[in-house]
Amino acid sequence: MKRLLAILTACLALMGGGALAQGSVVATSFPCYDFARQVAGDAAEVQLLIRPGTEVHAYEPTPADILAIGGADLFVFIGGESDAWADGILDSFGGEAPATVRLIESVTPLEEEDAHGHAHEGLAFDEHIWTSPKNAVKMVRAVEAALCAALPEEAAAFHANADAYAAEIERIDAELTDMVARAARRELVFADRFPFLYLAHDYGLEVHAAFASCTAETEPSAQTLVELIDVIEADGIPVVYTIEMSNGAIARTIAEETGVGVRELHSMQTVTQSEFDAGETYVSLMARNLEALREGLGA
Ligand SMILES: [Zn+2]
Repeated sequence: MKRLLAILTACLALMGGGALAQGSVVATSFPCYDFARQVAGDAAEVQLLIRPGTEVHAYEPTPADILAIGGADLFVFIGGESDAWADGILDSFGGEAPATVRLIESVTPLEEEDAHGHAHEGLAFDEHIWTSPKNAVKMVRAVEAALCAALPEEAAAFHANADAYAAEIERIDAELTDMVARAARRELVFADRFPFLYLAHDYGLEVHAAFASCTAETEPSAQTLVELIDVIEADGIPVVYTIEMSNGAIARTIAEETGVGVRELHSMQTVTQSEFDAGETYVSLMARNLEALREGLGA
């Protein structure tokens, strides 16, 4: 790995460190990519490193990815567990490293919770910060500031684009706040992994989940299943949630047992190729999520 990085760094030096005519931005996961392309508009080319349909938690950069990062005017990443690989790459570039924006620094990170809903020492910060629209606005503003610093001649366009996109996300925030205020209940059941800690935290939602976080585990304990079914029956929960690219097995089991509906909440950590091709954005996927939440909340 070290040797490869040395060779790639030498290549970059030959390429002139990526001084391209049009600005170039490289973003790791879909939320980073969407915020960057919305703020960049026509003023910079934005590349999504972790391709659609790829499991972000298992991603490893290819030599071409490393070259792309090194040649960018700006590198946008979360700075959580899943893209911790970026630190080693950025270090290896030394003085040739591109400007970077580490988006977890633009929000207040929350600690992952254990299976009992407790945060304690030894657990990492939850990295799915964008699942709260309130954080998404802060992330858009962080990308705006970084783009203005990296490509100051385009600052006016970046400000205008960021204002427009932040306003769209603020509408989602207002709609969600209003929905929760009118809701019959503030309780959601996740028959799946749970990457929505920030959404639940910022909007005052109580969550019962098969897994406490966005774990790689797939088999919940029998006790957890029984507890979820008890909550559904005691509280009259109408639907349970799965996340994108899930096999939905837990939700099916619970639905057969209780007769509840099953809905998907899209965490946006990655999108499918068809969603990508259809031009889905953070805002379009969040609007879809709001419809799914409306049913669960009874709003
Ligand atoms: Zn995740």
